Amino acid sequence: MDFHLTAQQRSYVETVQRFVKTEIAPHCLEMERRHAFPFEIIRRAWELGILNLSIPGRLKGYDLDAVSSALIIAELAFGDSGIATSAMCNDLANAVIAQHGAAAQQDRFLAPFVAAPLLASFCLTEPGAGSDNSAMTTFMSRRGDGAYLLNGAKCFITNASFASQFTVFCKVGKPTGNFMACVILGVPPPSEEEIAGGFAAGRRIELPAGGLITVGKPEDKLGQRLSNTAAVTFEDVVVAPEQIIGDRRRGFQYVVDVLDYARPMVAAIGVGLARRALAVTLNYTRERRQFGQRLCDLPVARETLTAMWKKLELAELSLMKAAWLLQEQREDRGVYASLAKNVAAEAALFCANEGLHLHGGYGFMNEYEIAKLARDAHIIDIYEGVREVQNMIIGREIC
Ligand SMILES: Cc1cc2nc3c(=O)[nH]c(=O)nc-3n(C[C@H](O)[C@H](O)[C@H](O)COP(=O)(O)OP(=O)(O)OC[C@H]3O[C@@H](n4cnc5c(N)ncnc54)[C@H](O)[C@@H]3O)c2cc1C
Repeated sequence: MDFHLTAQQRSYVETVQRFVKTEIAPHCLEMERRHAFPFEIIRRAWELGILNLSIPGRLKGYDLDAVSSALIIAELAFGDSGIATSAMCNDLANAVIAQHGAAAQQDRFLAPFVAAPLLASFCLTEPGAGSDNSAMTTFMSRRGDGAYLLNGAKCFITNASFASQFTVFCKVGKPTGNFMACVILGVPPPSEEEIAGGFAAGRRIELPAGGLITVGKPEDKLGQRLSNTAAVTFEDVVVAPEQIIGDRRRGFQYVVDVLDYARPMVAAIGVGLARRALAVTLNYTRERRQFGQRLCDLPVARETLTAMWKKLELAELSLMKAAWLLQEQREDRGVYASLAKNVAAEAALFCANEGLHLHGGYGFMNEYEIAKLARDAHIIDIYEGVREVQNMIIGREIC
């Protein structure tokens, strides 16, 4: 494995760094306070080409290698981990189409994302089925004419208020069915007025082919307030066979394949956040003087800064290994994806919490960015599989 970035990768990194500096950093804290969804920033990220990294090249997508994708996402998360989550969610939702969809399905469901700044949602979690997604009860049942009807409720769905496409995992036949399918539901993109309104009262989408999708009010979250999260309900939504990805009995395997791709990308979000927390804290402790010295020169404070740096470096190493194994499609990519996710979440939480502590009372003030980073960091340890689930995967593999 070569740790040198290619000229192309350096150029991606520098491009996103400039984007963060000019488009995200100046507005981030103020927008975060208002809990406003930054659609305009997403639009500009799309124009710049840092969205939809996994769309095949034949559709004029970027079809980017996993290491480059991880580098881009980490830089974006250095700006804001909520924006990085929303951006990455398009790949989370669309990866299954790129991996298992027929050519006609890729044309129909992926090409629109190349043509316009659209958002997608990945609908797996349910109120009664979080870590154990096999307990889901959303299901599709066959109608006489060969189409299916989809019914059920999902929760905590990123981008749901603004999505123009939903990737939905559901049981087949009945809520307790043994098989899981993956279906794609396209809906009209939100209008400019709707985007401006932020769907504060929720969203109701009547589908021309039949059925209703209801998106709840955007969730009021502790952190990552610049990503959108909402519950989604499906009522008698008509699903044509062409909307079912791959084999309608292999959804469980498709979830594993998507998460093998997505977990290193969540690790990249964690790395970006940890790096930001260290940078913000270094700046602060170089300025702040107590006991006649800069805080960063006090031995115990320096020890904490060193510990933060070490956690971050180890998380970056773990991320690069996971991304490289994914890129090479190695057999053991799943277990290293879990490792990277856990190590990056630990680094993000450690750097944000210790960084806040080194800010003293100022760290507890919302005016200081470190307070936001400490709130944002918790979700890295939860979404796309809590820490214990990653440990379960690692334990199963090594024992
Ligand atoms: C902001 C946000 C965005 C999200 N985005 C999406 C999205 O776009 N799409 C989507 O489908 N989902 C999404 N999720 C859902 C997320 O993936 C789940 O919240 C997560 O997988 C955990 O499920 P749960 O919340 O039901 O927790 P539970 O499964 O109820 O777990 C709660 C706790 O129980 C313990 N636990 C659980 N399982 C085990 C175990 N096997 N061994 C030991 N302890 C265990 C852990 O301590 C865990 O933290 C999002 C969630 C949030 C908060």
